[in-house]
Amino acid sequence: MFTLFLESLKFASEKHMAQRRKGCDMVPYINHLIKVADVLYSIGKENDQELLSAAILHDVLEDTCATEKEMRLRFGDRVTNIVIEVTDDMSLTYEDRKRHQIKNALFISADAKKIKIADKISNIEDMLTLPITWSDRRKRQYVQWSQQVIDNCRGVNVELEKAFDSVVAKALQEISDNSNN
Ligand code: ZN
Repeated sequence: MFTLFLESLKFASEKHMAQRRKGCDMVPYINHLIKVADVLYSIGKENDQELLSAAILHDVLEDTCATEKEMRLRFGDRVTNIVIEVTDDMSLTYEDRKRHQIKNALFISADAKKIKIADKISNIEDMLTLPITWSDRRKRQYVQWSQQVIDNCRGVNVELEKAFDSVVAKALQEISDNSNN
């Protein structure tokens, strides 16, 4: 019943094995992937196994040696296509990738949009809780850029969008509190 989902966990934990979460050597990358699937399931009430598997796999093409071909064989076309939709083109510069994400968000599927929202929720929460060495300015820029991406993803899941808005409000509040100190 959960075969595909368990398979995605196994695959992602192997592929991301050596990776840690930004700003924290102690947090294995898989924690982020589980968090994104959990946000979709617990907050977004999404229980489509292929969508949750794609959430577990959403960074595997961008950040590891996994290939599209092996993904199609193991997880099928729908999961693979969703992952491709949320994968940045790493041949672009950092700035171009950021700009491209905003524009591209308008044209991706509803499944991909849901993963984008859950991903940004996890990233902003980690930014607030992990010992990341970013300046307040950089943190604020990240939050504002995330808002631009997510504004182009709206209309797919109200609960996810509300959770995103509240994590953004919390982040901007914490950043301005710090700046005032
Ligand atoms: Zn991610």
